[in-house]
Amino acid sequence: MKHATGSDSSTADSGLAAHPALGGSSDWHTLVEQYGSPLLLLDCDVVRRQYRKLAQALPGVALHYAIKALPSKAVIATLAEEGCGFDIATNGEIRLLEERFIDPRRTLHTHPIKRDEDIRTALRYGCTTFVVDNIDEIEKFLPYRHRVALLLRVSFPNPSARVDLSRKFGCAVEEVSELLAAADERRIHVKGLSFHAGSQVPDAAAHVHAIERCAEVMARRRSHALAPLSLLDIGGGFPVSYDGSVRDIESFCAPIRDALGKLPPSVRVLAEPGRYIAAPAMTCIASVVGRARRGAKMWYYLDDGVYNSFSGQIFDHTRYPLIAPDARGEARPSVLAGPTCDSIDVIAEDILLGEMQIGDVIIAPMMGAYTAASATTFNSLPRARILTRAAPADLELEDSNIVRLA
Ligand SMILES: *Cc1c(COP(=O)(O)O)cnc(C)c1O
Repeated sequence: MKHATGSDSSTADSGLAAHPALGGSSDWHTLVEQYGSPLLLLDCDVVRRQYRKLAQALPGVALHYAIKALPSKAVIATLAEEGCGFDIATNGEIRLLEERFIDPRRTLHTHPIKRDEDIRTALRYGCTTFVVDNIDEIEKFLPYRHRVALLLRVSFPNPSARVDLSRKFGCAVEEVSELLAAADERRIHVKGLSFHAGSQVPDAAAHVHAIERCAEVMARRRSHALAPLSLLDIGGGFPVSYDGSVRDIESFCAPIRDALGKLPPSVRVLAEPGRYIAAPAMTCIASVVGRARRGAKMWYYLDDGVYNSFSGQIFDHTRYPLIAPDARGEARPSVLAGPTCDSIDVIAEDILLGEMQIGDVIIAPMMGAYTAASATTFNSLPRARILTRAAPADLELEDSNIVRLA
């Protein structure tokens, strides 16, 4: 059984302590009274802090935020101010960047499978670097070969990652030279290699392995006096601490820095962090809307669940820290359930909680990545409203579901 923690034990790195709007439990209730429930509190100062920490841990590596983790205008505008680039995968993500007039030279298109229309939309925007992983995709660039440079995505399966991103995409490392030769023959410029070591990896071993294999490919190409591969994209995967078990990013990245240090100085390096930047930046507030004793357990029904902000429990296989600041008295086996009529809509079973009343809140920090991004409106329930603080002042934010906090 797991304990949901009380209000006194918020963790320092969770983003919760850092959120000025969350001074104490009474503030959570004030926000709910003012803006309704459920809420997601997005703190752009945490986005800045995460970007700077990762940039410092990976000196010389150009960070490109993977928009799919949290496709938020406020996050994009904040990161653009910091000098971050962007990893785009769809035309919708391109539109988000166009709205903010983001310089397309700071972007790369990383979806290995594209329609001609997707390529044309990206080129019209001004993005000229694309990821491919097979011959059909290389041939899709024949009409555009004078305007583009390609990265070849290599697959390094990683069963220890929370989400293995080398199952669906990437060529085998043994196929690389054949694909490079095919591109050379068609006079299509491949400027480098890319990989994704898997999301929320426990340590940097997979990144290091992939960097070393890519370095070998690059060295072989140089020794054959072929056009050198001058770019290495090391993808995302940088972990955050959902349960206190992950090391700080500085020590996580130390082996990656060592491996990158062995590359020739002419090779430029990019990374595509999503989770690391977004996860700690958002905190969920849900409210108890009903309760029932069923057998030995207390069931608390919340207004947010796995079809909404907690969708990451299904799609991203992630459990978020839960804080029950209003729970009182003896801890009892309890269940936290979501608001839909579906029985899989349960956030936590078998947790020990003091008694809660209708109107009490549950706080879940670390809910920025792969949460709102995959939330649905199943049962015709609305998505959680997003309250944003510390976003760039000139950003047009107000709409019915996004509110700027002082
Ligand atoms: C999702 C994705 C990322 C971001 O991964 P994180 O593990 O969230 O850092 C980066 N690159 C590509 C190609 C992706 O698909």
